[in-house]
Amino acid sequence: MSGLPDHLRKPVRGMRDWTPRQIYALRHVEDTLRKVAESFGYRQVETPVVEHFEVLAKKAGQEIVNEIYVFKDKAGRDLGLRFDMTVPIARLLSYHMEIPKPVRWYYFSKVFRYDEPQHGRYREFHQFGIELVGSSTPRAEVEVLQVLAESLNAVNAGNYLIMLNDRRAIDKLLERWELTPYREIIYRALDKKSKMSREEVLKIMTAGGVPLDKAEKLYDAASEIELHDAVDFLTALDSNLGSFYSQLVRYLEDAVPLERVKFNLSIVRGLDYYTGVVFEVFAGEYKLAVGGGGRYDDLLQLYSGVKTPALGFAIGVERLMEALGLLEVEKPIDYYIYVFDDEGYRVAIKIARKLRQSGYSVVIELGEKNLKDTFEYVLKLGVKHLMIIGKRELERGVVKIRDLGKRLEYEIPIEQL
Ligand code: AMP
Repeated sequence: MSGLPDHLRKPVRGMRDWTPRQIYALRHVEDTLRKVAESFGYRQVETPVVEHFEVLAKKAGQEIVNEIYVFKDKAGRDLGLRFDMTVPIARLLSYHMEIPKPVRWYYFSKVFRYDEPQHGRYREFHQFGIELVGSSTPRAEVEVLQVLAESLNAVNAGNYLIMLNDRRAIDKLLERWELTPYREIIYRALDKKSKMSREEVLKIMTAGGVPLDKAEKLYDAASEIELHDAVDFLTALDSNLGSFYSQLVRYLEDAVPLERVKFNLSIVRGLDYYTGVVFEVFAGEYKLAVGGGGRYDDLLQLYSGVKTPALGFAIGVERLMEALGLLEVEKPIDYYIYVFDDEGYRVAIKIARKLRQSGYSVVIELGEKNLKDTFEYVLKLGVKHLMIIGKRELERGVVKIRDLGKRLEYEIPIEQL
């Protein structure tokens, strides 16, 4: 009897199991984040995990297309697993054009990417995020960034840092420096800035044809600056962009702690669909981004045919939990009832029913363990009270309760339960 080989006892590569303690940690984070979104008037949405491949491929960008889980169903349809929630929501809205705009929706959902699994990178993971669809004023940016900031505060990740950038700013700069033909390679290089050395990043650009002096200039420009300096920089680049940002920063001052938001031209983000503001958010010392987002004013048009401005963010929930060190939460059982015989068992059933009706969780020992083994078991299981129904106690109409947290033992009359 050897059972399954080891590799089949583990979940499929890049996926994970969730034990109850881990699920309760996830639930805790979910409940907390959900409350924040709801307090801003956002409502929850869910879609199927399976989409038409064509829907997913439409605006995913080559990098993501390679990461889509694809398969055919038995009827030969080309399908795929959703890699984020923005695309399915765009599809849903194109099918429900009657939904009044602006739409404020949030999700807490599983998504799938055929990524190379490593620390903080999984093939199945959860995203919490919001979408604000149908608005193009910078107040929409303010709102989305505020929900993001409040979400991080709510889970005690108050030491977050939001790195802001704008696709329009990079594009303007590339135009200025006559680098537009190298846009794609430059995006790819800038995206690597936090992970590679200066030489390596420059090499990506020069190998793609960017002249070295311009590559160096771009590299140096793409560093972290204060928001107020960003306004000056953007105004010099383009007056419209400048006035958008001066308004944005003015509003942001009242909405989020401004010292937690920086501007950084190297934040480009992988997903192809962004058109304006893009951002990534970091939590404490955790190296990888715990979230990201931005404005994608053209995405919905691809699905509905109607131009609809939109923006949003997504937080990678597993990464957030790792950053917080919040991996397990115990949910103890309120009462574990130990009985010695059938008479005690029948009393236990009645007591348990009453306690459950009052909202307590109650387990009755199945009669296969002695008291000592039960004691060891409940300590491992996580139990608040061990209730012992013994013959002598029953005769006196009481039960014995051991408070395992406070290490106290006392008796309670049965009718008081
Ligand atoms: P994106 O949809 O690519 O903007 O990702 C949003 C967030 O999801 C990222 O900031 C990460 O926190 C998280 N995320 C992205 N890819 C993965 C992955 N493979 N495993 C775990 N989390 C991820």
